[in-house]
Amino acid sequence: MDYKIGTRGSKLALAQTGMVKERLECAYPDDTFEIVVIRTKGDKIQNVALDKIGDKGLFVKEIEQKLLDGEIDLAVHSMKDMPGENTPGLCFADAWACEDARDALILREVSSIEELPKGAVIGTGSKRRAFQMKRLRPDVRCTGIRGNVDTRLRKMEEEKMDGIIMAAAGLKRLGLEEKISHIFSPDEMVPASAQGILAIQCREDDHGLLEKLNALSDPHARLRSSLERGFQRAMGGTCHIPVGSYCECTGEEIVFHCVYGEEDGSSLKCLHLRGTMSDQESLLAEAVELMKCSVGTVYLVGGGPGSVDLLTLRGKELLEQADCIVYDRLLEDAMLDFAPEGCERIYVGKASGNHTMKQDDINRLLVEKAKQHRTVVRLKGGDLYVFGRGGEEALFLREHGVPFEIVPGITSSVAGPAYAGIPITHRGIARGFRVVTAHDKDSELADIDFPSMAAGDETCVFLMGLSKAGEIADKLREAGKPETTPAAVISHATWATQKALYGTLADIKEKLEACPLPSPAIIVVGETAGLHDRLDFLAGKELRGCSVLLPRPGARSELAEKLRKKGARVTELKTGDIVYHTERMEDIVYSDYEYLVCTSRHGAEAVLRNIREAKRDIRELAGVKIFCVGSATARVFEDHLIRIENLPEHYDGKSLAELLKGILTGEERILFVSGEMYNRELYDVLVHGGALRHVAVYENQVCDAKKPEALEEYDYVLFTCSSAAQACRDWLKPGQGPEVLSIGSVTAQTLAEMGFEDVRTARRATFDGCVQLLEEMWRKR
Ligand code: SAH
Repeated sequence: MDYKIGTRGSKLALAQTGMVKERLECAYPDDTFEIVVIRTKGDKIQNVALDKIGDKGLFVKEIEQKLLDGEIDLAVHSMKDMPGENTPGLCFADAWACEDARDALILREVSSIEELPKGAVIGTGSKRRAFQMKRLRPDVRCTGIRGNVDTRLRKMEEEKMDGIIMAAAGLKRLGLEEKISHIFSPDEMVPASAQGILAIQCREDDHGLLEKLNALSDPHARLRSSLERGFQRAMGGTCHIPVGSYCECTGEEIVFHCVYGEEDGSSLKCLHLRGTMSDQESLLAEAVELMKCSVGTVYLVGGGPGSVDLLTLRGKELLEQADCIVYDRLLEDAMLDFAPEGCERIYVGKASGNHTMKQDDINRLLVEKAKQHRTVVRLKGGDLYVFGRGGEEALFLREHGVPFEIVPGITSSVAGPAYAGIPITHRGIARGFRVVTAHDKDSELADIDFPSMAAGDETCVFLMGLSKAGEIADKLREAGKPETTPAAVISHATWATQKALYGTLADIKEKLEACPLPSPAIIVVGETAGLHDRLDFLAGKELRGCSVLLPRPGARSELAEKLRKKGARVTELKTGDIVYHTERMEDIVYSDYEYLVCTSRHGAEAVLRNIREAKRDIRELAGVKIFCVGSATARVFEDHLIRIENLPEHYDGKSLAELLKGILTGEERILFVSGEMYNRELYDVLVHGGALRHVAVYENQVCDAKKPEALEEYDYVLFTCSSAAQACRDWLKPGQGPEVLSIGSVTAQTLAEMGFEDVRTARRATFDGCVQLLEEMWRKR
């Protein structure tokens, strides 16, 4: 048979067609092949940017017409220039082996992207290339350039551009490979769909020819062609928008790189989806879906070693804005209290040996949640890049085009030793440190370079190694580390329940056997561990070593701070929320009253809220005598420069009742602001003391408090109100766990009803009374 091959007349088109002709002649020696050059509209308009004159059909219309008319039998194009939809009556043969798919940068004066001067000018007519180039170097200015390869090279010189971007395939086919300064990896710049693939087009019904052409096809090129053109079609890609895709294959594994963005470059999303040959269809569907949906940002936040106080400010800020939090174990639940109402909370934590969710599933979950929410926080213990698999999650997000931000956290590997009096480095003692995992994938002792550890002076920190402590000590000794080297095991580092064991390589194993510690724990080996007795910053404090669980409603408690000052370690546990009903105060005219009585800081807060929310004036309180139950309540007013009258001798309702009894004459107008629970004795005094208006303006909405981690490790649970005790009734049982203490008799009564007999009660029902009680108890231990 005689075949006519149509092509454009450019050097590149001719080179490509020449290659096709040669291949066909070689495969089918009985046939003859002749090249016919055709001028297209795209060739005729040379000086207008491509995206301004029309679509992909620009270079092919005339050629296709000649195919349909039978003037030629097949045509050779660049597949990337072909419209997504086939022209009726015509089709493409299965793709042949492709050239390099990537884009190449040709630089005029320098030899790498890094060396480009600030504000360098790069020639490219493609928005896809321009916007991706700007991602690599935001300072670069891209300018349109057209024409065939030679013209572009010439224009770069004449117009003194710093560089131009072109397809590597074309340059290679023309033998201009040595001009290339840099080939962009698909991670840097996703190529045009089907770039480097030749499109061999013929009539749909020319079965004989099609069969001959298909016999020469290549599986990788076929895969690329189908996926990449599928993507292009689905995205409706034209040269007006930045769009491209490239399917990279290594054996069975494929990575599907895609780019898609707004015409003005205001957004540009890149995907790098991984899969295997058999996932082709689902990969394409996933890519299209991800490109079309809008996704939120995932913030990978290191939550620190556990105590809420060691969360970073940025971490807290993000938790406060989160729409969804995906969190792990090893965290104080108080961190979740920062989240706004309605925030979705998903626990994916791993208890040792009992994986709640596989890492792959967590990765997928993060992408799913980013599709549903604007702000997703992934909260993990410590720092998420220190054995936290944060890198894997971040890579997966990147591959799925989900923007992410990393918020480092305080790692237990550094903070743990610090809280146990061990500086991780110390001048003259340890010039560095190593942090290693003691576990390998099969839960065996990891392959650790013990000889080099033994030879150096670095502090060595072993994570995930509690069950291997003995083996680690043995290996270090065998490797020549002196057995007098100080060693420590720190369990629950920085938590209220922190415990540490100190010894040497010789005896740490026995010490741990004699006194087992719970996980999580870290092992520290090195001379710095010998400093612990001098750097124990709680040394000498009354409550050092005492761990207290403090269930309490509402915001952080002042009591916790008082206890910490005394050296105790305290975990606060939220048992409820204060809900204000300031609408109940709307009709109050403060100046109508001579006395205002508040029995808690929430009452005081309610008055100020009411004044603020109703846009009233604080001077309405001028002349009103204010009585408060205690100093914390008084402080709320004093913080607003409002002075109060005397405080009662004891900070409780009874004492305040006695104080007021001596003052009120029965004539006064009194405003009493309280919670829904209030002291009856005080109420009676006020009712008889004059004309009383009582507003119960807030309530403590009790929630079920979650059982804290390591409950049994606490020394005490201290209750400062009945509602807190009730909130813990599901998991706090008599005869188990820590000793239970109470602020006063009312709370003790509630505890008695829960089965706790003989609960120790503070002598005075105040926070200071509680501190005193704990000091007495702890001294006796
Ligand atoms: N990303 C975390 C470490 C995760 S690996 C970080 O930077 O801290 C988990 C291991 O960390 C545990 O097995 C334990 O060895 C250690 N670990 C984490 N929190 C700890 C804590 N509060 N006290 C002691 N060890 C802790």
